[in-house]
Amino acid sequence: MLTGLQVAIIGGDARQLEVIQKFVELDATVQLIGFDNLQNQYSGATKVPLSPEALQGADAVILPVVGTDDNGIVDSLFSTSELHLTEEHIRSLPPHAKVYTGMAKGYLKTLCQTAGIKLVELLERDDVAIYNSIPTAEGALMMAIQNTDITIHGSVCMVLGLGRTGFTMARTLQGLGAQVKVGIRRPEHYARAWEMGFTPFYLNDLAQQVSNIDLLFNTIPTMIVTAQIIANIPHRAVLIDLASRPGGTDFRYAERRGVKAMLAPGLPGIVAPKTAGRIIANTVSQLIMEDAVTGRNRE
Ligand code: NAP
Repeated sequence: MLTGLQVAIIGGDARQLEVIQKFVELDATVQLIGFDNLQNQYSGATKVPLSPEALQGADAVILPVVGTDDNGIVDSLFSTSELHLTEEHIRSLPPHAKVYTGMAKGYLKTLCQTAGIKLVELLERDDVAIYNSIPTAEGALMMAIQNTDITIHGSVCMVLGLGRTGFTMARTLQGLGAQVKVGIRRPEHYARAWEMGFTPFYLNDLAQQVSNIDLLFNTIPTMIVTAQIIANIPHRAVLIDLASRPGGTDFRYAERRGVKAMLAPGLPGIVAPKTAGRIIANTVSQLIMEDAVTGRNRE
C-alpha cells in the first residue's frame, strides 16, 4: 500500500484514469491537476490547479506518456485550460520526489536536470516496451485489415526489425497464418527468427525481398524503406510504419508511386487505452512501492 504517499497526476488522456484508479486503490493521497472536466469521482483524490504550492509535498509526479511538448505544455483531455509546466513547479518538489512520464522531450529533461529531480522515462524500460508491443501489434493488425482486401491468413507479410515491437508483430501475424518475412541485421536475430518459423533475411537484401509482399510493418526508427526499396514493392502492398515519427518510410515517394503507406503512431493509446493505462499504472506503482520499501529500510 502507498498510505501517506502524495502523488500528483498531471494531465493526460483516458490512460491516466487507470493510473488514478490504481493509486486511489493503493491508498495514496492523489492530487489531480488538469482534470477539471472529469466527471468520475475518486475518493482520496482531490482536484487542484497547477501551482508550485500544489507540488510542494508531492513524492511523485505522473505526467502523460508524452510528458510535455517542447515548450512545457502538458496535454490534457480533461481540461480546457492550458497546463504549462515550468521550472518553478519542478523546483518546488521535495528533493526525493521523482517525475514519471512515458518519454521526455528536451524541455522536461532540462527542467528536471536543473532542479536536481530524478526523471523516469517508462518507455525506455524493456518490460513496458514489451507489454506495449501487444496493443501496438493489435492496432497495426486493425489497420492492415482495414486497408487490404485480402485475409492476413495466407498473405506475405514483412516485418522490419526484430526488437520488442517487431517480435510481437511477427508472432501475431504468424498466429493468423501469414507467411512472415523478417528483416534483421544481426546473425543471432537471423537464427532466432529461423527457429521461430519466420523467413529471415538480412536488411542488405531488402530491395530484392520486398518484390512479393502484401504487407510491410516497419519498426526500425531510421529511413529504411527508401524510394529505391518502394520502387520494388508491388502496387497492391500496404506499408504500415510503426516507428516513432517521422518513421522509416519515404512517404512522399510511396504516394508518388501509388503505394499505400501510413505512419501509425501511438497505437496503444488509440486501440486499447485501458490496457495501455494499466501498463503504466502497474509499472509506476511498482516503482514507487520499491522506492518506499528502500526508503523504509534505510530509516
Ligand atoms: P527496439 O526494441 O529497440 O527495436 C528496434 C529494432 O530496430 C531492432 O530490431 C533494431 O535492430 C532495429 N534497428 C534500429 N536501428 C537500426 C538500423 N539503423 N538499421 C537496422 N536496424 C535497426 O524498439 P521497439 O520498442 O521495438 O520500438 C520500435 C519503434 O516503434 C520505436 O521507434 C518506437 O518508438 C516505436 N513504437 C511505436 C508504437 C506505435 O504505436 N506506433 C508503439 C511502440 C513503439 P538491432 O537489434 O540490431 O539493434
